[in-house]
Amino acid sequence: MESVTHRMSAVVLTGTEQLAFQDRPAPRALPGQSVIKVLACGLCGTDRHIVHGEYPSRPPLILGHEFAGVVHEPSPDGDIPSGTLVSIDPNISCGSCHACTHGSTAFCPRRLALGVDLDGGLAELCIVPDTQMYPVDQQVDPVRLAFAEPLACCLRGTDLAGDLAGARVAVVGGGVMGQLTAQLARLGGASAVTMVTRQAERRRLAVDLGATSACAPGEGHLGAHDVVFECAGASGTLQVSVDLARAGGTVIVLGITPQDHTYPINPYDLVAREIRIQGSFLNPRTQRRAADLVAAGLLQLDPLATRIVTLAQASESLVQAPGPSDIKVIVRPG
Ligand SMILES: [Zn+2]
Ligand SMILES: [Zn+2]
Repeated sequence: MESVTHRMSAVVLTGTEQLAFQDRPAPRALPGQSVIKVLACGLCGTDRHIVHGEYPSRPPLILGHEFAGVVHEPSPDGDIPSGTLVSIDPNISCGSCHACTHGSTAFCPRRLALGVDLDGGLAELCIVPDTQMYPVDQQVDPVRLAFAEPLACCLRGTDLAGDLAGARVAVVGGGVMGQLTAQLARLGGASAVTMVTRQAERRRLAVDLGATSACAPGEGHLGAHDVVFECAGASGTLQVSVDLARAGGTVIVLGITPQDHTYPINPYDLVAREIRIQGSFLNPRTQRRAADLVAAGLLQLDPLATRIVTLAQASESLVQAPGPSDIKVIVRPG
């Protein structure tokens, strides 16, 4: 008989639309890989797309890619001691291909992600390569640290936008990516940040957290924004974003839509107004900065953690469509 400490609970995707709360063997540390005790794991739209078979994954699989925890069993050859609080970058790239050696780790053809291709953080324990762990001060609230992964993706987006000092920015979409991006734009010195979303609750939240104004899609100052961040990932929001951009402006597309969705777009308008549409994918080399930003307390994250649930309740939260007042559900396995 295995002792109780060698088993753990986990949320396992067993097939499309099939989630199970399972008792699993606990992982053991390996050379270069430590076992993390998960303290907090965020649920996100990507998880929901995976559950519905709209985003590629490899079941059977423990979901969860936005997590933080403490080192439970360090790798035999590692230098991060037991008990260290770590933020985890779930995207593991090979480090040796052309994309990796040219700073484009998100395009690594051998990239594997915890919670997407490999077992992730919706479990009591998770095995994580030491290269993916970023130690942070012990005092940081793990719930806040669970925001580091989406924040790292937003940092990629703001990096691609360039210098935001004095810029007039619009953010389309009031979910977690939009709320984080709006805060980053303010930190980056944007002179105006307008939150554009259908839900009045999310408009109010954005203004509470520092956006200078908020409006519904189709309203506001069309053609007046230097940079527009598309963070909704819904049909039609790309056009909403293009309409908000000024001539010569940039639209950064962060929102993830189902893989087969297409948008109608007006090419004449793109040409005549020289609109730049730029995609932003994952978090290449931004996780350290994101974890440091969380640790520095420069962002308001607590109002975004709108629901804290147990591991046993996670499956239910994954299959339910989030309501307007749900920004981020955080799972606390402990
Ligand atoms: Zn995510
Ligand atoms: Zn690579």
